[in-house]
Amino acid sequence: AETGLPAALTAFIDLDAIAHNVGVVRAAAGTDVIAVVKANGYGHGAEPVARAALAAGATELGVAHIAEALALREAGIDAHITAWLHTNHAPFDAAIGADIDVALSSRRQLALVADAARRLGRTATVTAKVDTGLNRSGVAVDEWADFADDLAKANADGAVRVRAIMCHLVRGDEPEHPLNSQQAERLDAAAADLVRLGSPAEVMHIANSPAALTRPDLARDLVRPGIALYGCTPIPQRGDFGLVPAMTLRAEVALVKNLAAGQGVSYNHHWTSDRDTVIAVVPAGYADGVPRLLSNQMRVQVNGRGFPQVGRVCMDQFVIDLGPDGGGVAEGDVVELFGAGTRGAPIARDWADQIGTIDYEIITGIGARAHRQYV
Ligand code: PLP
Repeated sequence: AETGLPAALTAFIDLDAIAHNVGVVRAAAGTDVIAVVKANGYGHGAEPVARAALAAGATELGVAHIAEALALREAGIDAHITAWLHTNHAPFDAAIGADIDVALSSRRQLALVADAARRLGRTATVTAKVDTGLNRSGVAVDEWADFADDLAKANADGAVRVRAIMCHLVRGDEPEHPLNSQQAERLDAAAADLVRLGSPAEVMHIANSPAALTRPDLARDLVRPGIALYGCTPIPQRGDFGLVPAMTLRAEVALVKNLAAGQGVSYNHHWTSDRDTVIAVVPAGYADGVPRLLSNQMRVQVNGRGFPQVGRVCMDQFVIDLGPDGGGVAEGDVVELFGAGTRGAPIARDWADQIGTIDYEIITGIGARAHRQYV
């Protein structure tokens, strides 16, 4: 039996897989890559993922919050970083001081950043984030003309440098949908407005993972993949694109014990054994990102053999049924919850499919208590 995990619950992060996946996306898109490492690198650890992606040829990083970008700076990463989601109370001064590219979604945000830059005697690096149809973040259509005027003025007086123009796709995972091209055309038109006003953006980017892999015609100067870098296919119906999952979640068997026929397991006894059997306790629960909705549905692997999870998933632990002969499983053996899908073990998407969600939610949901081990 394999033994000796570094912690009771360990997420092994394969940085070679991250590097491989950067290469897959670069080759498909034919452009440079902004590695999206928001949400702690989709749960994999922002700093190690950022370093691996940059070493593998990604040229820039992307995050949601300025605080995420500042944490990468504090870790000593000096690559270009764009942050694209802010409240009016965001740390814009710190962003300017750390040379974070602030993507702007409104005239209000532009005014806050330009005023901060003037006060600091600096030039803020900014990206115009245009709402081309997602109707989420980005400068609204009815505000665009005024925003572009304000941006040109702030550019002219040195308060800002217009480094990029970007938008985010509504249906990137439906590559043939006409909205993809329409959004790109709208962004081209917005970029032309900035040229006409004398404050052109230096680069343009549109594509998330699914578009980067399937629509190189939309890619413009850079692509912004997240999920693909972590090895999850962004369009399952199209296969895996040669991507390799980077996270494998493993736990050490905490306890093995006998269970008599007719006995129920875990809260409210949602599973009752119909035979004398042997059960094992696995130290991973919903606080660690194992969905409670998966109760009685999961299959895990121990020593290359599959076993059913039984009864309710709890906050810190769940139970597996080893069968009457105990399945050859001992305390300290390694349980694989999900991973790269080798030897028939589940991948994150299997969990997602079972509970009607997406693998993004599974991998970003793996909690801080799972030790990250980089391999
Ligand atoms: N660009 C922006 C603005 C995003 O918000 C995200 C994540 O949702 C991405 C790119 C990366 O998307 P994906 O993980 O689908 O590649």
